[in-house]
Amino acid sequence: MSAYHPLDVTEAIAIARGLDGVFQPDAQLTCREIGDGNLNLVFHIADPAAGRSIILKQALPYAKVVGESWPLTLDRARIESEALRLEGKLAPGLVPAVYFYDQELALTGMEDLSDHIIMRQGLMNGSRYPLFAGHISTFLAQTLFFTSDLGHNQQEKKLLSRSFTNPELCKITEDLIFDDPYRDAESNSFEETIRDEALALWSDGELHLEVAILREKFLTHAQALLHGDLHTGSIFITPESTKVIDPEFAYFGPMGFDIGAVLGNLLLNYASREGRDGSDAEREDYRAYLLDTVTDVWAQFEAKFLALWNEHGVDRLANAAPGYKEHYMQRVLQDTIGFAGCKMVRRIVGLAHVADIDKLADAAARERAQRLALRIGKSLIKLNRGAVSINQLVDTVLAAS
Ligand code: ADP
Ligand code: MG
Ligand code: MG
Ligand code: MG
Repeated sequence: MSAYHPLDVTEAIAIARGLDGVFQPDAQLTCREIGDGNLNLVFHIADPAAGRSIILKQALPYAKVVGESWPLTLDRARIESEALRLEGKLAPGLVPAVYFYDQELALTGMEDLSDHIIMRQGLMNGSRYPLFAGHISTFLAQTLFFTSDLGHNQQEKKLLSRSFTNPELCKITEDLIFDDPYRDAESNSFEETIRDEALALWSDGELHLEVAILREKFLTHAQALLHGDLHTGSIFITPESTKVIDPEFAYFGPMGFDIGAVLGNLLLNYASREGRDGSDAEREDYRAYLLDTVTDVWAQFEAKFLALWNEHGVDRLANAAPGYKEHYMQRVLQDTIGFAGCKMVRRIVGLAHVADIDKLADAAARERAQRLALRIGKSLIKLNRGAVSINQLVDTVLAAS
């Protein structure tokens, strides 16, 4: 197309118009930039008369956070488009279709999912998604199993991992999730009302030991190709459909990091119910729904992953060694619980927060929600290596509530 520069609306329309078979030559196209503008541009281009539309997502060569900006590789757009294509093959229907990727412009054309809602917003609204656990557990089992050494020839895996070497985005995760929240870092951001909580985090040696071990796994355990940023803001949803977007952080890492991201974000919403529901009964009811979903995501993931292993396992010894499958799944569960906790803690004291809690207008409710999220997050981190069942996660959440 042309040399890299951030596109404007007119150029985005021209590119969309030039795509084969998307719009009629004489179509009246509309275009809006709908991204949040920190890392990427997202253009929504539509021919309303014909009911056709497309999304163009373009990486910006920098990250903008609280006024500051630092350079960030455009290669993440390639990683995102390749990850979406691979996920689409492994988990059909659970990611947007990719129409094209342009390397020069770091630009991906993809299916418009505007008929879906971002799951974080859906949960904030109090909506329920009974099919979600089934969909996301399929996504997780299919993508994680078939990119692991269990479902994939290990030489193919090593070749594939070359395409998903993602040092700059991994470094963001390393710092923002596994380091800054546990020290007095400049990037941290929290309300003064909970400074006591921050101080406690910075001096909790037992917690630091567990986070150091989880961080080591994040850095070294190339278990499967991860989405890498699987929070509820990366999931588009309706009661019937679930679509995972935004895998620009994809890399080979520990499976529990993706599963834990899903569970940790459901639990952040759980904490945010402090300020959300009309009555105590409604709050308890919605929280029960969220906890059921957490249990269900894990239980269905485990069952589907084991079924894939039984049918498609490529590693003879791993398939046959007595007790190995149980040992493997237990470690994935432990990692899931630990990473879920890390994801919660960073969203309260670290750089990027979640709207579920930040948008609570009532300061007292917001503070209760923040303290609850931290209690749950810290307890999960401390539980992780001792866990043998998902029920322990639920018990831990209830005990902290
Ligand atoms: P970023 O990496 O900058 O977070 P995302 O891929 O998460 O970008 O997209 C940012 C926002 O753009 C999403 O929250 C959503 O509102 C919109 N968006 C992204 N992809 C699509 C899509 N395929 N269809 C409709 N809207 C989308
Ligand atoms: Mg964003
Ligand atoms: Mg995003
Ligand atoms: Mg992103």
